Amino acid sequence: MKDRVPGTVVAYRLCQRCSERQGTGAQPFQVVPGRECFVCEGMLDGIPRMAKAATRRLRPYEFKTFAVGVTLPERVQEREDELRSELKLKGGETIKVQVAKLVAVKISEATRRKVDKARPDVSVLADFGRGDAVVSSKPVFYYARYTKPAGVAQRRSLCDVCRGARCEECKGTGFKVVSSVEGALRKKIGRLAGSEKMVFTWLGSEDEDSKVFSPGRPFVAEIKGPKKRKLVRKFAVRVGGGTVGVSSGRMLPSKPMRIPSFRFETRITATAASKVPPEGVSELHARFHRAAVTFERPSSRPAIKTVYWVRARARGRTLVIDAELDGGLPVKRFVNGELVSPSVSEVLKTEVGCRSFDICRVREIGAFRFAEITRDKEKN
Ligand SMILES: [Zn+2]
Ligand SMILES: [Zn+2]
Repeated sequence: MKDRVPGTVVAYRLCQRCSERQGTGAQPFQVVPGRECFVCEGMLDGIPRMAKAATRRLRPYEFKTFAVGVTLPERVQEREDELRSELKLKGGETIKVQVAKLVAVKISEATRRKVDKARPDVSVLADFGRGDAVVSSKPVFYYARYTKPAGVAQRRSLCDVCRGARCEECKGTGFKVVSSVEGALRKKIGRLAGSEKMVFTWLGSEDEDSKVFSPGRPFVAEIKGPKKRKLVRKFAVRVGGGTVGVSSGRMLPSKPMRIPSFRFETRITATAASKVPPEGVSELHARFHRAAVTFERPSSRPAIKTVYWVRARARGRTLVIDAELDGGLPVKRFVNGELVSPSVSEVLKTEVGCRSFDICRVREIGAFRFAEITRDKEKN
């Protein structure tokens, strides 16, 4: 396809597009049909077919913007490099860039969506070697709050039998089959978003036996490879005998760089080793008013947490304590005094054990922080 005539410059046989790409000026190109083209060997004729394949692959995806990347068949780039170095052509658009543009124009016409090379919702990889397109989508971040009944764990835990290796006991999942908020959300959000690939971030946690009441505990689900990019504000999932409710749902603009801290109101049921007198209850109220409490975290520096207030009622050895605590202060330890001081046990001067606690309200302190997004529009 390349003819070398003695005493003349090398003549290249190129298709229309490949010859235009080399720039203006008198170049020794002979324009030939695509399949005879020295550089692309007809690859550029496959652009409409590739755009069609890409558009079909994009159909399940919800997106406003897209970008196109290209994989060339073997040797195409090398042949263009060879041609340019022999003819000393510099600075022209590469075949890769040209092809990506042409495919993008066709996809844009078919889908009425715009190209955004910096932060596209979906990326199309047009693989001209394989003759097909692969679509990937940018993760979305869903913020919401959950409520739950007693008997449902927050997170799924590894299967006791195989420890995550997947076995018959866990139906090949690697996780315990008991119900969890995480399991329920993964399934439901997975159906809504078209992807079950998810990473959860929780603002605190509670016991399996704890109820979480409305407005619920906040969480963020990072959904990878989503087909839908906007999820509903609220939904409910039946789990075991009860319902996990989700509300206040919204999409975050991007990956949060900082998650807010939080404080929470809890109702604790506890048992004391001896009868709690009324003075003991008064002492709890007095001592735990905006009180600084030290939590000697194992394998970490001690944390100073605030107990905002405590309201207690005693009946014999049974205590019902309403309290508002900083996030990260473990409720059970706050009661029994293990690694926490002062604690309910310490103030009452008797051993007190937490039987159960519910989460009544979780309040965020501060806001989410996101990485700065510089848009092309703002730069100009
Ligand atoms: Zn060509
Ligand atoms: Zn297993």
